Amino acid sequence: MEQVKCLIVGSGPAGYTAAIYASRANLSPILYEGMEPGGQLTTTTDIENFPGYIDGISGPEMMEQFKAQAVRLGTDSRYGIVTSLDLSKRPFIATIDDGTHTIEAQTIIISTGASAKYLGLPSEATFRGQGVSACATCDGFFYRKKIVAVVGGGDTACEEASYLSSLCEKVYMIVRKDHFRASKAMIDRVHKIENIEILFEHNTLEILGDDKGVNGARLKKNSGEVYDVKLDGFFLAIGHTPNVKMLDGQLELTEEGYIKTEPGRTKTSIEGVFAAGDVQDHHYRQAITAAGSGCAAALEAERFLASLI
Ligand code: NDP
Repeated sequence: MEQVKCLIVGSGPAGYTAAIYASRANLSPILYEGMEPGGQLTTTTDIENFPGYIDGISGPEMMEQFKAQAVRLGTDSRYGIVTSLDLSKRPFIATIDDGTHTIEAQTIIISTGASAKYLGLPSEATFRGQGVSACATCDGFFYRKKIVAVVGGGDTACEEASYLSSLCEKVYMIVRKDHFRASKAMIDRVHKIENIEILFEHNTLEILGDDKGVNGARLKKNSGEVYDVKLDGFFLAIGHTPNVKMLDGQLELTEEGYIKTEPGRTKTSIEGVFAAGDVQDHHYRQAITAAGSGCAAALEAERFLASLI
């Protein structure tokens, strides 16, 4: 069976930053890129808030650069999905692509990210990246002085609506119930912002648009009335699902289903297994914070291996 000192699962900013550090520490890491090579950033357009890129950079291009840097330093970056992990003893065993390959790993860094939830409308897929986004912090800047909607009634939706309100002419919040799920402080904040209009008891039937992108949405009130609103952008904030299926309950998770790590660390409930990026962080969810925790995970893996000698 193939053996490796450090196996990295996932290819977003956390995974590739872990790979860069692990390579430079001579751990010769193998990284599996997963279902969506490059991670969530490959679905966004321009990234202007990652330090070092004066003029911004597109998400896919930035991830290609992350990968190229990791590969140049010695990472073996592979297409493929880690479909299951046996963490019951070390070395851990990773099964790739449902059994076509298995690997024994002394340490594992899990950086499989979290996937934004979508409503499941066909038009949502059509306009993804062309007016439909699940990240206001990433894409809000492109909607300056425009009209946008945020779907959801949780803290994220309120936070994103409030952020967008400082950039956009108008922000609709589309909330399916007659009340928010968010905390009182966040609710108070959005109620006070004049250019936010809250549409309680509304659902989205369709996102409207043409070859230039989104230009509206068809909404349905719970009372039955259907009408269209004019929009330039449509933001989803209905939660994220951390990608932890391959763990099959072997690691402790938080109440929200994210991998539990020691406060301020990337150590998980099993020695030698580390978690980095959005799979263990539902607060910040930024490329730069994910990259930072990827670095921390590689340093912790290196120190763990050194402690065994
Ligand atoms: P939540 O799960 O808290 O909220 C999701 C919201 O989306 C709910 O209002 C839910 O409606 C709505 N929703 C879900 N599915 C659909 C759908 N298909 N159609 C329409 N609406 C839908 O997720 P968040 O991302 O907001 O928050 C996740 C966690 O992170 C929470 O614990 C939150 O407190 C925390 N957080 C904290 C922040 C802070 O403290 N500053 C900032 C951001 C997040 P319904 O209520 O009807 O189920």
